[in-house]
Amino acid sequence: MAGYREHISVSGVLGVCYGVGSVLVFGFSPVQGALAGILTWVAGMLPDLDSQTGKPVREVSSLFAAMVPLVTMQHLLAWAGDTETAVLLGVLTYALIRYGGAMLLAKVSVHRGMFHSIPALLIAAEVAYLGYKHDSIYVKMLMAGGVALGFFSHLLLDEVYSVEWTGIRLRLNKAAGSALKYSGKKLVPNVITYALLALFTYAILIDIGLIQDPVNNQRTPLLQHATEELPARQ
Ligand SMILES: [Zn+2]
Repeated sequence: MAGYREHISVSGVLGVCYGVGSVLVFGFSPVQGALAGILTWVAGMLPDLDSQTGKPVREVSSLFAAMVPLVTMQHLLAWAGDTETAVLLGVLTYALIRYGGAMLLAKVSVHRGMFHSIPALLIAAEVAYLGYKHDSIYVKMLMAGGVALGFFSHLLLDEVYSVEWTGIRLRLNKAAGSALKYSGKKLVPNVITYALLALFTYAILIDIGLIQDPVNNQRTPLLQHATEELPARQ
């Protein structure tokens, strides 16, 4: 199994490449590139939130808890209506994730369970897409892409480290196949994971205008996104 240090270094390097690439190749702003790079880096540690032991996990969960209100600040501002309420909501979000989330995780998660899986990767990317409020669908996709990339690097590293070189031949240890998987051995975590995936996919289909919004019976005009251009070509 790859350690904290391997994960943090690989996703860090990927984050820098992703951020710089998004600015130089696609013309996103340097701030957007930097933010996307940081999301890549943090996402590279996310799957190990399911292991309850050790300082690294506590560090990752506090970093993650701090990132959530920052990244979703635009949503918080829109919901709250004024800055003070938004800040209060942000602090509460932090506390809820940092302490409530940690307690919940300790109860329900199993290390190398469904947190280490392809559907979990998709959920993380979809949450980033939905959580990052921006008028441009491309900026939202940039953030979601960063999260997906970082998360993927984690799963891939865990799989690579499950291959052992015995001196004579390569063999797979018992962790092989436990990271890059579509489903786990237990039914309930599988059902919860796929239900969440379906829910967030549904929300995204509404967001991009493929499905009518059941709340206000309106559809985001598809044309609005179709005519939108990549930042580089504007
Ligand atoms: Zn892991």
